[in-house]
Amino acid sequence: MKCGICKAEMEEKNVTYTEDVDQAVIVIRHVPAHVCTECGNIWYSGTVVIELEKLVDMFVSQTGQEVAIINFARKTA
Ligand SMILES: [Zn+2]
Repeated sequence: MKCGICKAEMEEKNVTYTEDVDQAVIVIRHVPAHVCTECGNIWYSGTVVIELEKLVDMFVSQTGQEVAIINFARKTA
């Protein structure tokens, strides 16, 4: 697939996704994504975006931690 910004080729890669919510920072590692080889633009598929949202919601509602590091591949903290 091509980058939506610069139209260069994108490659499949695992990346680290960071979400900064009100009271916490959530780091999700090993997230499958497409990364532009030219500008570094990162694109996640729809199913991955849904999983990321679920993980963030779950973390925010279930724990009072300020920082979480989650492995996307295993879906556990
Ligand atoms: Zn690009």
